[in-house]
Amino acid sequence: MPDTPDLEIADPATGTYARNADLTVTPLDARFFGHPRGLSTLFFTEMWERFSFYGMRAILLLFMTAAVTEGGLGWNAAKAGPIYGLYTSMVYLTALPGGWIADRLIGQRRSVLVGGILIALGHVSLTFHLLPAFFLGLFLIVCGTGLLKPNISTMVGGLYGLEDARRDAGFSIFYMGINLGAFSAPLVCGFLGQSVQFRGFLQSHGFNPLNSWHWGFGAAAVGMTIGLIQYVLGGRHLAQTGLAPNLDPGTRARNFRNLLVAAAVIAVVCVVLWLLPVPIMTVMKYLLPLLPVAYFVYLFSQPWTPEERKHLWAIAAFFVFAALFWSAFEQAGSTLNLFADRFTRTSIFGFQFPPSWLQSVNSAFVWMLAPVFAWLWIALGRRGLEPSSPAKFSYGLFFVGAGFLVVAFAALAAGPQGRVSPLWLVTVYLLHTFGELALSPVGLSTMTKLAPARVVSQMMGVWFLADSLGNFIGGQVASVFEKFPLPWIFGSVFGVCMVFTVIAVALIRPVKRLMGEVH
Ligand code: GLN
Repeated sequence: MPDTPDLEIADPATGTYARNADLTVTPLDARFFGHPRGLSTLFFTEMWERFSFYGMRAILLLFMTAAVTEGGLGWNAAKAGPIYGLYTSMVYLTALPGGWIADRLIGQRRSVLVGGILIALGHVSLTFHLLPAFFLGLFLIVCGTGLLKPNISTMVGGLYGLEDARRDAGFSIFYMGINLGAFSAPLVCGFLGQSVQFRGFLQSHGFNPLNSWHWGFGAAAVGMTIGLIQYVLGGRHLAQTGLAPNLDPGTRARNFRNLLVAAAVIAVVCVVLWLLPVPIMTVMKYLLPLLPVAYFVYLFSQPWTPEERKHLWAIAAFFVFAALFWSAFEQAGSTLNLFADRFTRTSIFGFQFPPSWLQSVNSAFVWMLAPVFAWLWIALGRRGLEPSSPAKFSYGLFFVGAGFLVVAFAALAAGPQGRVSPLWLVTVYLLHTFGELALSPVGLSTMTKLAPARVVSQMMGVWFLADSLGNFIGGQVASVFEKFPLPWIFGSVFGVCMVFTVIAVALIRPVKRLMGEVH
């Protein structure tokens, strides 16, 4: 095989050669829709992981708030909402230590494996109708997702050589895998957990129908297990991707010690928080929003060139808008899910479907619309009209807010007792998907492009931190679901989104200036 430098540019269409990062020329691996075969392994692993995550999430809050006589935990929204918010927020927060453990100790590949095992065990734990098993399950899923989610994304990037033009397309395919899992899971887990049909089946086969929720959680466990088997079997296609870092024994020992110390400190803090007379949720309410503030204060206190400092300000602006966006968008699993459960008609043509099925709508729209958006940006780009990333962030906020205006009207139409057509929520999710497709794909890439070289890898963590904060705020909103009139709650979310949309629009030019050459 000739080792000529001009083979550097890969051409997926013709299957020519790509130059790898180690500067040897190898045949282009294009066995998975023109992409490396390893992408198939990661695609299906993440698909199953998201299947387990979204399947369980579709029924989590409904299980917590269902009456004991319905097999639920019988909590009110004021108690269940913040627990839900804390859980979904932690799932994303642990991406920070998860990335650290992979980079400094065991590599991404093993992190994904360990993470997947913890997640599967967590879902198994949720199949038991016992409160300690419930909390243990959530804890294991939080730890497992922190190890799996950020690292599998990093591995996708690692499949491609530095010059490989297929990288962005690879991430888009991967995002479709996420949404394939997220689409199918609520259908399966929702059917098992909530449907009258499955409850009848359980009853007629001598099982307790009230335990249907735990069958739904069990399906999540099965999904993650299939994903793990597939990951192990497909491991040989991952070549050198995600291997453990080559550390000298001293560094490895030091990193391991740091990890243990950090884990011990966190454990002590948790125990202290638990023992405080103030409820743990109240403490978290102040602590979690302080985390990003502390992180950015630390970041800005470092020595930077004026150019880098400008970029950091742009990153901070993106961070605030992303956190706000997620705080509205992620109410899909909380307030909007409760609205589906209590105020939405769930039958079509005489067929009764579980309210949690509406959780699939967003992913279905992503499948339909992602190619349209990709085409739209390219078409606009050709005319020199493609919006800048700060403009796309403002679209994201606008659409997610507009969705809440629609659901505010739906709540008005439903009144305190009634039920409205499911088309209301379908419209809400359509608008939310517009927002997601405007903001989410550009988010991480803009953050990493703006990040000063020495903190690039931290930016994946910062992006997840925005997600984490957003989820926590979303859970707080759910806590007032039974306290205030719904049109008022949804209308307020709409109002806040619109205020920040206006701010985001006003900041488009200044942020673009801060970004300089980066787009
Ligand atoms: N739906 C995407 C996923 O599950 C993005 C969700 C998010 O970042 N909050 O990965």
